[in-house]
Amino acid sequence: MAPLIEALTSNGFPVGGTGNSVSAIAHTQGWLHCDIPGTDASGAVKALMDDLHAEFITEEMPNRVHLSTSCCEINCGGQADIAIIIQHTKPPKINHDLVANMCERPTVVARCPVAAIRPAMVNGKPSLEIDEAKCMCCGACYPPCPPMQINDPEHSKLAIWVGGKNSNARGKPTFMKMVASGLPNNPPRWPEVSAMVKKILYTYKNDARSWERVADWIDRIGWPAFFEKCDLPFTKYLIDDWRGSRASLNASTHIRF
Ligand code: SF4
Ligand code: SF4
Repeated sequence: MAPLIEALTSNGFPVGGTGNSVSAIAHTQGWLHCDIPGTDASGAVKALMDDLHAEFITEEMPNRVHLSTSCCEINCGGQADIAIIIQHTKPPKINHDLVANMCERPTVVARCPVAAIRPAMVNGKPSLEIDEAKCMCCGACYPPCPPMQINDPEHSKLAIWVGGKNSNARGKPTFMKMVASGLPNNPPRWPEVSAMVKKILYTYKNDARSWERVADWIDRIGWPAFFEKCDLPFTKYLIDDWRGSRASLNASTHIRF
């Protein structure tokens, strides 16, 4: 392998991403191939990989670190140790003039996971209305009904989730949890997102034991210590408080975090 690595490196190709390193970032398709992105996943990945190049070509992490970026909230992206995911912060705005011609209203009504959409007549035309108190800004109604515009340069933000992984010989699969919200969607280099990812990544690198994945590390130290060590504020935006969440999700800091 040594001559191959030498040849690739001398021609400017980064070689790494295996073993205890930051692997190549998994990312979703974005504007090139999909119709609902709220950001450009590939651009954020390029900016982040430039910043994390040193951690890609060396194997100095406690364990492998998978990163991912997803450009909508109902994303096709996977679980990752650290994930960057779009976060809509306002309910969709409906263009009532277009709904009758572009949307199958029963499909859109059925699509909403919290039953916040109802058929309505607006200005004499069949349209839809949203119960904004119920809406959790997931964006699931936008793909079947483009007049329900939710993407917005100011109000579509980015959030950081941590601790997702598949099962392995040492542990069960784990789901990610959101630890930072409302970061600006700031192309072309996304400096705020990069700074947040690096803060979490390097805290993990310095504090985790050998062979602990991010989820194992947090499991050992506990969520309060995670927020303290990473110097992250725990805000109300990290608690799932939409109607119906109390039975299944993070109803309070005491129960889950
Ligand atoms: S994450 Fe969402 S917007 Fe991005 S490619 Fe996947 S489905 Fe499309
Ligand atoms: S954004 Fe999600 S929760 Fe809100 S109306 Fe659309 S589908 Fe329902």
